[in-house]
Amino acid sequence: MIKNRLCKTELGTRLYFFFAKMYSLRMYLPFCKGKPIFAGIELTNICNLKCVMCSLKDAKKKRGFIDFGLFKNVFDQCYNLGIRKFAFHISGEPIIHPKIGDIVSYAKKKRIKICISTNGQLLNVKQAKKLMDAGVDSFRFSIEGSTKKDYEKIRFGGSFETLIKNMENLKKLRDSSYKDVEITVGSVILENTPDKITNFHKVFGPLTDEISFSELHTIGDQHKGANKNRRKRLCLMLFERIYITWEGLITICCFDFDNNLIVGNVKKDTIEKIWYNKIFNHYRKLHKLGLLNKMPMCGKCKLATPYEQYLVNKKASKLIQVN
Ligand code: SF4
Ligand code: SF4
Repeated sequence: MIKNRLCKTELGTRLYFFFAKMYSLRMYLPFCKGKPIFAGIELTNICNLKCVMCSLKDAKKKRGFIDFGLFKNVFDQCYNLGIRKFAFHISGEPIIHPKIGDIVSYAKKKRIKICISTNGQLLNVKQAKKLMDAGVDSFRFSIEGSTKKDYEKIRFGGSFETLIKNMENLKKLRDSSYKDVEITVGSVILENTPDKITNFHKVFGPLTDEISFSELHTIGDQHKGANKNRRKRLCLMLFERIYITWEGLITICCFDFDNNLIVGNVKKDTIEKIWYNKIFNHYRKLHKLGLLNKMPMCGKCKLATPYEQYLVNKKASKLIQVN
């Protein structure tokens, strides 16, 4: 059953990445500034975990929640710019936001697809029901490790039992009353992941519709274990995505947990104005010219966007790259 869904998903994923690559080729044109087609709105940079591969725990900037009024303002601006694909997080655990239900309901009025990415620890039955009633279309669990020992070592502060209990309850609830809601798992490939793929599938396969893997990003040069072979293509973040932090700042990068790559403030300018402003265009120019060393973070980054995505083969025994 799971294997069939994986086969279908693999084809869909391959097609998505094929078209994304084609779309990205236009960025090499000297006059092309692109247009945002995706927005990441950070609901909070507070998180209940301290995962080993996440640099949020070392971030120095202030923690907080986006104001609901500010959320509505930036969401509407993005929507009016033509954006239909949103993520409601950059860093942090979005379901910690006290107004998460109102945020989802507000966005859902525009009939967009809403995916909530979560570490799953706080997604109990009450919370899951509230979110599905508000209009969530899919949940994406971020998980590494398929045993209590591995999981709790990597997802520091989390409980393996709580994760499994929340996933089991969500699956039951979905199957009985919210049949259109999708449940997926995304996992970062760490050192021993490939050897443990079969068990990962055994544990999480029955609880989800799709499992995919992505490479650990260097995030500048912060992760020693990451693959640092630089790709010879532009970083798409600057040309098709916009990221708004909980304070209302616009950054060019979804890994900018310390506001190193800020290009504007939505409390002072419109998102459209910021998208075309001098500093944003300057950064784009540096990327096109390959002068990344002149920028914070980017100089040492692997430029891995969109991420390398992997699914597992039909026997659930090894990873296969799909883009
Ligand atoms: S749950 Fe997500 S945001 Fe929180 S520490 Fe882990 S990777 Fe970072
Ligand atoms: S090159 Fe790396 S650091 Fe720079 S915007 Fe892209 S992902 Fe972020």
